[in-house]
Amino acid sequence: MNIVDERRLMALNERPYGPGPVLYWMHREHRVNDNWGLLRARELAVDRDVPLAVAYGLAPDYLEAGLRQYAFLLAGLREVEHGLEAIGIPFFLLLGDPAEVIPDLARYLAVGAIITDFDPLRIKRGWLKRIAAEVQIAVEEVDSRNIVPCRAVSEKKEWAARTFRPKIHRLLPEFLTAIPTLKPQTVPWNLDWPANDWSQAMDSLKVSSDVGRLSGPRSGELAAGALLAEFTAERLSGYAVGRNDPNGGATSRLSAHLHFGMLSAQRVALVVIQADAPQEDKDAFLEQLVVRRELAENFCLHEPAYDSAESFPDWARRTLDAHQGDPRPYLYSRDELEQACTHDPLWNAAQREMLATGYMHGYLRMYWAKKILEWSKSPEEAMAVAVRLNDRWELDGRDPNGYAGLAWAIGGVHDRPWPERSVFGTVRSMSFRGARSKFDVQAYIQAFAVLPAPKMTKSFQRQGS
Ligand SMILES: Cc1cc2nc3c(=O)[nH]c(=O)nc-3n(C[C@H](O)[C@H](O)[C@H](O)COP(=O)(O)OP(=O)(O)OC[C@H]3O[C@@H](n4cnc5c(N)ncnc54)[C@H](O)[C@@H]3O)c2cc1C
Repeated sequence: MNIVDERRLMALNERPYGPGPVLYWMHREHRVNDNWGLLRARELAVDRDVPLAVAYGLAPDYLEAGLRQYAFLLAGLREVEHGLEAIGIPFFLLLGDPAEVIPDLARYLAVGAIITDFDPLRIKRGWLKRIAAEVQIAVEEVDSRNIVPCRAVSEKKEWAARTFRPKIHRLLPEFLTAIPTLKPQTVPWNLDWPANDWSQAMDSLKVSSDVGRLSGPRSGELAAGALLAEFTAERLSGYAVGRNDPNGGATSRLSAHLHFGMLSAQRVALVVIQADAPQEDKDAFLEQLVVRRELAENFCLHEPAYDSAESFPDWARRTLDAHQGDPRPYLYSRDELEQACTHDPLWNAAQREMLATGYMHGYLRMYWAKKILEWSKSPEEAMAVAVRLNDRWELDGRDPNGYAGLAWAIGGVHDRPWPERSVFGTVRSMSFRGARSKFDVQAYIQAFAVLPAPKMTKSFQRQGS
């Protein structure tokens, strides 16, 4: 029986396996352990009695990512290199457009198959399509991101969590299984290959230095595992009630490691299920980790316009259009928002948390995005600005969770109509007063009023596509 469930796999072209080695092209799941793509690649290599290699193509720019995100990524990849070296699997770091450097490497090594990661985002679908068309060998995608593979859970864009939840829960027992350990390479490589040059990798980037490096959190699989252990021991108990308090620190703060694929969501779920914590806390956490996170993947896979107002459902577009002429209490430019220069101290504090730490608490992400709608000329502009700021400053940005979260907050995606308000129409609104009734707003404002925001030298320019 195959190690990897066939429902995780999809052939990206109709070419046959060639006789050469197997190449695992890592572009989303940046880890050695609990990685179904890597397990599948090794299984294929063993079956065909050929060696396995892993390659990473470092794009010089990627959406809005800056130095903070690239530094986090590269630190994690160095750990991957060491982890693979320990079991005899070479790791090739290539610099340049992955859609060019990966086929070049495949030809140079005369590989027989490319196994790679699933990703629903347009930029990645574009890379995968180009590579699958260019090479003369089989290219296969493996979904290691979702516990229940995104393509298996539903073939269409789901309307809401309530339509998606039963589908996920029905399939969870089949997929939430133990994950095998990756075993050492069986056929050694005889290849003279220069050592990866990590400082040249950093120098090759063409990204804005405005988004400077962060002093934390620590990157990589080891740090992710430690964070998970700390969360389950110290904060999981109390998560159900505490998760909506930005001062309480009850959440896992695993989103950056999950986004960069340094931690498998399946591993997180297995650990949480076994943890010594009340069932209501485990259930509340798994609802976010499994249902909400995988619903976001479903949204991006089936909605090509996931990062724009075109993705909003008809009812939300109609009500937002009907309120287009409503007077806006305040209108802010993108730069004013970015530099946390609004009249609202809570919003400014949330923006400063994101600028200074690369993270914003989940409750405030909702408030932050909804206020951008309230203070923008149109929902289209609000969505564009929010996507750009979120992708640029959050360590976990450029992620399906972000696009779905912003489309939820600004355009009612996965939500339902609420009582009518100015500007929002029947899209759910949030207010400063509402926030004050939920948590100690002053304590949060104080915590982030004093943090220095990184200095911005110039108005930012979009990097990549
Ligand atoms: C406007 C807006 C923007 C957002 N932008 C991002 C983003 O760029 N990147 C990102 O990863 N998440 C985003 N989210 C989702 C969520 O707010 C964050 O994942 C969460 O706050 C991260 O903190 P945590 O890891 O401590 O969460 P925890 O509460 O500990 O949750 C554990 C994990 O579950 C997942 N999760 C939690 N809440 C959600 C949710 N609402 N939707 C989907 N998955 C969820 C995340 O992977 C998270 O790490 C956004 C939500 C909104 C409303």
